[in-house]
Amino acid sequence: MRIGCPTEIKAQEFRVGLTPNAAREAVDHGHEVLVQSGAGIGAGFSDQDYLDAGATLADTAQQVFETADMIVKVKEPQAQERAMLREGQLLFTYLHLAPDPAQTDDLVKSGATCIAYETVTDARGGLPLLAPMSEVAGRLAPQMGAWTLQKANGGRGVLMGGIPGVTPASVAVIGGGVVGTHAARIAAGMGADVTVLDRSLPRMRQLDELFGRDFNTRFASKGNIAEVITEADMVIGAVLIPGAAAPKLVTRDMLGTMKPGAVLVDVAIDQGGCFETSKATTHQDPIYEVDGIMHYCVANMPGAVARSSTIGLGNATMPFMLALADKGWKQACKDDPHLAEGLNVHAGQITNKPVAEALKRDH
Ligand code: NAD
Repeated sequence: MRIGCPTEIKAQEFRVGLTPNAAREAVDHGHEVLVQSGAGIGAGFSDQDYLDAGATLADTAQQVFETADMIVKVKEPQAQERAMLREGQLLFTYLHLAPDPAQTDDLVKSGATCIAYETVTDARGGLPLLAPMSEVAGRLAPQMGAWTLQKANGGRGVLMGGIPGVTPASVAVIGGGVVGTHAARIAAGMGADVTVLDRSLPRMRQLDELFGRDFNTRFASKGNIAEVITEADMVIGAVLIPGAAAPKLVTRDMLGTMKPGAVLVDVAIDQGGCFETSKATTHQDPIYEVDGIMHYCVANMPGAVARSSTIGLGNATMPFMLALADKGWKQACKDDPHLAEGLNVHAGQITNKPVAEALKRDH
């Protein structure tokens, strides 16, 4: 099979769909890999890295789309990319179709077979191609929060780890899933005093068994949240109710009870945010202040560390990409029902029930 990887063209997207390591494995499996020249630059991979891996280079995206049997990307195809997709071609990337009727219509019209990273599942009911990006966002949250806590950035001027004789920062993490656990580990590793609040007792038992005294757990009742935030130098929002907007757990009124210059990092901003005063920000202009409280609400946090994110995503997608290339999508999906859950559009039809329902279309 010929596998094509174009340069991402969505604004501020520096990741790339295939790493040189993934390209090398595909070549070793007997496939041809065609990478658009410069596609890896944003993630720190040169054209030579791909050539060394056995890939060939294409000058334009058009060449990649025209000749590849399977296109591997990161972001949903933009309108000009969708216009180049053709019948029978396989597209493997993040799609997020439910809120995007224009993209869905174009993919349906193209006749291509489209497998979305975000709906591929695993045996434990997890989302293995979303998890690496939650891991990145979680680990990045205390790092960005610590930067925001610095005085020059509007924060309280508190050092995460304190020093001998000076208490460390107090960090509350609301939501102890993938993002929250990674955030708590890094904040604790930086020396902060960390409390994770969740509404799932089984999850908190698991955290307690895994991490012991590295951080405290506390039930996320309204009363406990209200109490914890008054003491916190940093609050990290990491809740998720699948398929729903994030609940507003810290209201504007509650900001007045917090310490001036404390920091809110709302990782759940891509689901609307879990603090009432959150609004999505960008890497160019990531923070703002409301009632003396600093907010960091970047909706695509993994983009800040494009190289780590690309490698993490590539590790997760590689086995699926190889199965699709080796067996063809039909057999690969027959052999692996979790990969089959990724099938969103095929031959002019929406094939994923929640997507079809969200868009009120047939499937
Ligand atoms: P997850 O499902 O692994 O964890 C969510 C946790 O929230 C669960 O443990 C759940 O019990 C808990 N929860 C639900 N309601 C709660 C409540 N009212 N109070 C306390 N806890 C509650 O999800 P995740 O992968 O950790 O993702 C968390 C959020 O981060 C999602 O909104 C996700 O889309 C977002 N995210 C954002 C970025 C970004 O760049 N901003 C990147 C990755 C993920």
